[in-house]
Amino acid sequence: MKRYKAVLFSIDGLGDHPVEQLQGLTPLEAADRPALNALAKEGILGIVDPYAPGVPCGTDTGHLCMLGYDPYKIYTGRGPIEAMGAGLELAAGDVAFRCNFATVDGNGIVVDRRAGRIREGTRDLANVLDGIDLGDGITARFAPATEHRAVLVLRGPCLTARVSDSDPGGKNEGKPAGLVSPLDKSEEAGRTARALQKFLDLARKRLDNHPVNKKRVSAGLLPANAVLTRGGGIMTTLTPIAATYNGLKGAVISGEATVLAIAKMAGFHAATHASMTGSYDFNPIVKARMALDLIRNYDLVLIHVKAPDLAGHDGRWDLKKETIERVDSLVGTVRSIVECDTYIAVTADHSTPCRVGEHSGDPVPSLIWGPGIRTDSQETFGERTCAKGGLGRITGNQFFHSLLDHMGFMPKFGA
Ligand SMILES: [Zn+2]
Repeated sequence: MKRYKAVLFSIDGLGDHPVEQLQGLTPLEAADRPALNALAKEGILGIVDPYAPGVPCGTDTGHLCMLGYDPYKIYTGRGPIEAMGAGLELAAGDVAFRCNFATVDGNGIVVDRRAGRIREGTRDLANVLDGIDLGDGITARFAPATEHRAVLVLRGPCLTARVSDSDPGGKNEGKPAGLVSPLDKSEEAGRTARALQKFLDLARKRLDNHPVNKKRVSAGLLPANAVLTRGGGIMTTLTPIAATYNGLKGAVISGEATVLAIAKMAGFHAATHASMTGSYDFNPIVKARMALDLIRNYDLVLIHVKAPDLAGHDGRWDLKKETIERVDSLVGTVRSIVECDTYIAVTADHSTPCRVGEHSGDPVPSLIWGPGIRTDSQETFGERTCAKGGLGRITGNQFFHSLLDHMGFMPKFGA
């Protein structure tokens, strides 16, 4: 069977609701999008529920669905994905937590969950918390992430993520940092809770007199004198993409640590560039060039663009329309530079409607274009035309399988 290559665009948070100021069109429908419309005319459209109708996925679970995984079976919390994103190596059985550097007063009351949104010195602070032996065969790895965020990984025998958060949460400043407690009666939960609390107590001691904090206090800034934990998850091993889909070799291009971490977990090559900020200022040329480079050696190249999601969170339908127009130019450039029998697919990890300002459970507009595609009667790419497309309403897994089937990588079901 002949095999084909494909470029898959993941346009973060693409789906939206009708916007009054756009005469009832969605930002996608209102955008000038000649490249996407050309693919829609010659391709097949569909409306895709990343996981299932009405389930608002996160960027992490949405991408797991997009790549053929079932997050309900493998997803145990954001900790491991964040930890990989921060550059830590994880092994199966490790338990990882999302952390904040925080400011706590002498009575253990959280004054600021983000330590004055500390940006500088977090690497130095993290260094005194990394590699701590917590006894019982458990060691702690600790690494800074962006701004006040950090990650903690506990490694040792018989650990679990079934322990409480020490982070009191968003609006609870003025409350004490939580003591970590086991969430069930298992030996593992007790053991993990003890180790984690020991780490947090040690962190208080080591951070209190740290030179970075002394400097902050003398400058009138809040010290980062405590660590708060949340989002614990146990590292599971994903079946590599190649093992499930006939040796498929994939690469992911993204500026977002979460997406790159998922790519690595799934056995994709994770490619990024300093110019990829995961922000509004994405550079279509760098992404297109990198895709052209990678498609020579990989069967599937996924290009992730974050900006439309940010605009959705910010409630900026005007910016969302504009970023989609820039995505359109990226799609057009990629189409013009890849081999003509390369499939092009477009989908998203979830909808982020501007009027909601959050991820919603709405399905996302999607398309597949390439050799032998059964076209449908739709000629433009939008939420409403996709709902009438030939792929129908399918899940993220089914969309991925449809693309892989065209590419010749889908294993046959039966004899
Ligand atoms: Zn997302």
